This record gives sequence, C-alpha cells and structure tokens, in this order.
Amino acid sequence: MTTTDTHCPYCALQCGMRLRRARPGTPAGAPSVEVDERPGFPVNEGALCGKGRTAPAVLARAARLTAPLVRDPRSGELCETSWERALDRVAAGLRESADRHGREAVGVFGGGGLTNEKAYLLGKFARVVLRTPNIDYNGRFCMASAAAAHRAAFGVDRGLPFPLEDVATTGCVILVGANPAETMPPALRYFTRMRAVGGRLIVVDPRRTRTAEHADLHLRPAPGTDLALALGLLHLVIADGRLDEEFIAARTTGFEQARAAAMAHWPERVEQITGVPVPAMREAARLFAAAPTGMVLTARGAEQHSKGTDTVRAWINLCLATGKAGRPGSGYGALTGQGNGQGGREHGQKADQLPGYRSLTDPAARAHVARVWGVDPADLPGPGASAYELLDRAGTAAGVRALLVMGSNPVVSAPHAAHVTERLTALDFLAVSDVVLSETAELADVVLPAAQWAEETGTTTNLEGRVILRQAALPPPDGVRTDLTVLRELAARLGHGQGFPDDPEEVFDELRRASAGGPADYAGITYARVRAENGVFWPCPGTTHPGTPRLFLDRFATADGRARFAAVTHRPAAEEPDADYPLHLTTGRVTAQYQSGAQTRRVPELNAAAPGPFVEVHPRLAERLGVTEGELLSVTSRRGRSLAPARITGTIRPDTVFMPFHWAGPGRANTVTNPALDPESKMPEFKVCAVRVEKAAPA
Ligand code: SF4
Repeated sequence: MTTTDTHCPYCALQCGMRLRRARPGTPAGAPSVEVDERPGFPVNEGALCGKGRTAPAVLARAARLTAPLVRDPRSGELCETSWERALDRVAAGLRESADRHGREAVGVFGGGGLTNEKAYLLGKFARVVLRTPNIDYNGRFCMASAAAAHRAAFGVDRGLPFPLEDVATTGCVILVGANPAETMPPALRYFTRMRAVGGRLIVVDPRRTRTAEHADLHLRPAPGTDLALALGLLHLVIADGRLDEEFIAARTTGFEQARAAAMAHWPERVEQITGVPVPAMREAARLFAAAPTGMVLTARGAEQHSKGTDTVRAWINLCLATGKAGRPGSGYGALTGQGNGQGGREHGQKADQLPGYRSLTDPAARAHVARVWGVDPADLPGPGASAYELLDRAGTAAGVRALLVMGSNPVVSAPHAAHVTERLTALDFLAVSDVVLSETAELADVVLPAAQWAEETGTTTNLEGRVILRQAALPPPDGVRTDLTVLRELAARLGHGQGFPDDPEEVFDELRRASAGGPADYAGITYARVRAENGVFWPCPGTTHPGTPRLFLDRFATADGRARFAAVTHRPAAEEPDADYPLHLTTGRVTAQYQSGAQTRRVPELNAAAPGPFVEVHPRLAERLGVTEGELLSVTSRRGRSLAPARITGTIRPDTVFMPFHWAGPGRANTVTNPALDPESKMPEFKVCAVRVEKAAPA
C-alpha cells in the first residue's frame, strides 16, 4: 500500500501525518487519500485535530476548482476556459495596467499558507518580472506585530526561539491572547505536561477559553489593555524586588527607561484600565518571577492591535527583567497562526523584505539577492504598501490597478471587509489563484485553479522555526496546475523565460542561496536532510551544521549581542466604547474552522461541528438586550453591521462580545472590525473595536 509522510495543510503546528492512497472501490467523490498517524514526528506525536483528520476532503473534485475561469465581458459571469487563454489574459491584464499607469499600479497579494518555495518565487516574480514594490500578504494580518517586536528586542524574528518540547519543562508560562486548546489542540500536551511536573500556567484572555480552563491563574483584562497589564506586572516585579539584576546587567540594554515607564503604571491604575484586580496581578508577577525558568507566549489576542508591537515589547520586558530569555527553558515566543506563518514571512513576499529575512533597504542585502537573481540591485524596487494599505487604495489613482492574489481570501479575512470588497471590485484587473472559488475569487476577472498540499511537494517552516517537507501523495486532478507552474508561465509571457523553474526542489535550492548569510539562513537545509531529520531548524548555514533549535543562548542577534528593553506606555485602543457604541467586540477562531474558512467550510464534518457565525454575549448583557439563546443579533460598528445568532455564555466579560471570523455573508465579523494600523508593524486592530449590539428583526 502506498503511504506518504507529510504534514497538515492548516495551522502553524504543521502536524506530521501519513497519507495512504484510498483503497480501490472507494466511492466516487470520496477523498482519494486517507490520514493515518505519523508517530515518529515529534511535534504532534501522532495526534491531529479534526481539521487535520478531515483535510483530504478538500482534495475531492466536488470541493474545488478544476478548470480556469475567465469573466465573460457580455454576461459578466465566470466561465471555464483553457489554461493558455487564462494565462494570456492574466499576463495581459498585468501588462496593460503597468503600461498605462506605471509599474507601481500592479500588485501582488500572497498568503501565509503558501510554501516557502511559492512565497520565494512570488516575491521574485513581483520584484524581477513586475518590478513593483507593491507586494504584501495576509501574514501582515496575523504575525507582523510579534515579528516587529522580536526583531527590535532580539535582532531576529523566529516565532518560538526554542522547540515546543521546552514548554513541557519550564517553570511558568504566561499565555497572552493565545488559545492553543482550541486553535492547535495537539500543542496543549506540552502545557499539560508542564503542569504535571509542577509548572504554572497563567492565561491572559478576556474570555474564559478552553485553554483558560487549564490555567492556574486566569487574568481577564478588558480587550485592548494587555499592554497596561504587562506594565503593571513589571511594576510589581520591580516593587517587590524580584528583578534579575545580574541578567539585566550582563545581557540587556535600556532597562532604566523601561523601569521608569513601568513605575509610572501603578497597579491600582492598571486595575482601573484592565479590570484585573491588584492581588491577581501580584500573584501572577510572583509566580512568574519566582519560577526558575519561564516563558511568555503571545498570539493574536495580544498582537492584533494598533499598539500590538508595543504590547509585545512590554511582555518581552517582563521576560528580560526576570532573566527569562536567552537561557535554556526560558524565553519569549509567538504562537504563529497560519500553516507557513513563519516561513511565509522570511522569503520575500513581505513588502519590506527580501529572502532570508533580509531588509529590502539594506544595500548589502539587495546586492546579495540581486546577484542570485541575476539582476542589477538598482533595478530592485524598494518597500511597498503593507497589506491593508494596498487593499485600501486598490483601484484608486494612489493605488494598484491590477492585482494578482495567490492563496488568500481578503474579502473575508481583511478588516473593514465591505470596504476591501469595494476596492477589489474597483480594480481594472483582478486575478486569483486558489484551490476553491473563494469569496475573493468570485470577484476576479480570471481564476486559476491551484494544486494543493497533498498534490505538490514543498517546504514550510513551523512555529518553532523547524523547516519541514510536505510531500506530494498524489498528482493534482486534471485541469489543475501548481502555483509554481503558474508563476513560470506568467514570467515567460512577461519576458522572463528563464529564472522561474517550477520544480520545488530547484526553487528551494535557489532560496537556500538567496538566504545564505541572512538572519533566516537556510543554506545548509536540503530536502534530503529535512526528510531524514524530521525537519531542520534555521539558521543552518552549512550542510554539516546541525541547525539551531534554541536561539540566543550565548548572545542575542543584535549588533552588540544584548537584548533591548523598550520604554513603552499604555494607550487606549483606536476606538473605545462610547454612548453610541457601548461594547467591545473581540474576534477569534473556533476549533473546527480555519482562517477565512475557504477550505474548512467545504468539509462536511467541520461544517457540522461549526456551521456558522455567532455572537457570544454574557447572560447579564443578554438580559439587558432581552435576547435568548439563538436569537438573531445585529452587531454594528462605525464601519458596518454583522448579523449572527446569540450564544449566551458566562465565559465572556459583560462589557464585551465575541465573534469568530471564519464566515462570509451577513455574519462576516470583519465587516465590523477596525482597520486602524500599528504604526510599526502595520497590523490592523482586529482584536478590539466599539460596537452596538441589538436584537435583530428576523429576515
Ligand atoms: Fe492541522 Fe493545526 Fe490541527 Fe495540527 S493542530 S492537525 S497542524 S490544524
């Protein structure tokens, strides 16, 4: 029986799984591969969540696109066409906009689920073929603040600077705005093991999530106040004499300014801002500082704010002040969300970066990458618009007029989504490459049906910085091509017949050269090694180098080797509740759906488990609104209105409502969310806005 060891297509844990070709006689329309455990892969140790177990369902023909589509100018409908005509049309659409409005009028929007090879080739396509600065991707919506903070504090950004297994042996973890029990269930084992040997788990979340149920201490700050809470904890650490002075002196800079900022945040004032009682803060500060080792792990709850970068810096300050960084079993990390959220940001589809996590404004980096690409460094464009900025200006004189979207569904996943939809509709030309007819693809002039995870080989880099290999288990169905082939064909039509191979290993070998010497150095990582070693951690500068599971043990990656404190202070969210919009809205995920739901909403088992959007409301709020379980609510912000049934639960704060963001249509949470951007990371403020909630009249 043919089996293939590979990885789940969904979240950043990138669980190992074994695919088995379905037995002869499997009913037509059923998945052609089945999922088995892959016990030898360390991260998930054979465990999978429901999304991983049902992933083959999206491979079935019924769930996906199997022919290119082009919009008929007369009927306005998307109609099947040949690959040749579709690719010709995309190349013409991109070329015409560039000819008429200049190269900057053409843009590319990528995705954090693309393999490293695709992310790399997409970046090269934008900068070498289109020569546009306007390339960014949906990872800007989910990891940019943690990345910016990581780089500023430590000199390099790797989501976790240690393997997940280290969580099991650390003394105390503070999880901030992270809910692994629901978003990546197999990871929960590491927290459970830690607690079984005496470690403490502190969860910071406005909601009593399933993860919070495992906590020794649950702090429930008002949405948008995590930064104040971190400052309050540091204040208490300092006031109670729990600093690690030796570590601060030996391995950090900037503490005095950070101390002054924290001391200005009196615990009583922080209690007023956050709603977290001083005794609970004191207990958290004591548990964390007194533990011999400890970690702070953030996720989107802490990061998706207009002050997300400063918020993460404040939590990093707490790690540094207590000596919990750059030592075995200690550190700050971000639990990345998307499948290739880590690798997707390292290889050139970010507006400001070149492969190897090099800066696009660094002359030496530009020269190195230009050499690998065989172009003049002066011809490489500079940094372009960030993801929301690019979408916000699309179709205007100040923005792109033609856009190629690969592996992303911003109509559902972008903030202020109705506005984004309008902007995409105003484009002169939109092409979308995807595996399904997503809500964004429905707007396109041309839709290209893409091969997916089990049908093509390629690497991803999981949340630990472990480069792993997704291996093809079966060929793509007739009518479907890989994104690498699409890029090769488009590049050829636009005058670049060379330099865009579609063999993934060939692309990866070029990526290795482009990344060599950069912060995310993949030079020593080969497909053969990844297969043989269950993944290889970057940086790995040579083929005899073992890879680097743990960063910063001797020095941080800054110029002087020291980690940097930041003097950050609390500030309100971009939009606070007022008389017209008296409640906080916060958004997030449910276990059975993934991101914009484009794939998981097409899986019957997942749809049965999570069939649609809802609004979590506290019983006291429900009583005030006169609403009972399941009644339709309207959630209105300054940007629009969403409709979804009430789910009444004591797990939410009475001043806050929660909506999951996986659905399109009237219940689309992102119709309401606020696109206010963090000034450094350009990450939008998905996690808090002001809303009015009312009982809605039935349709
Ligand atoms: Fe896939 Fe993430 Fe579930 Fe693992 S936890 S099976 S990677 S969705």
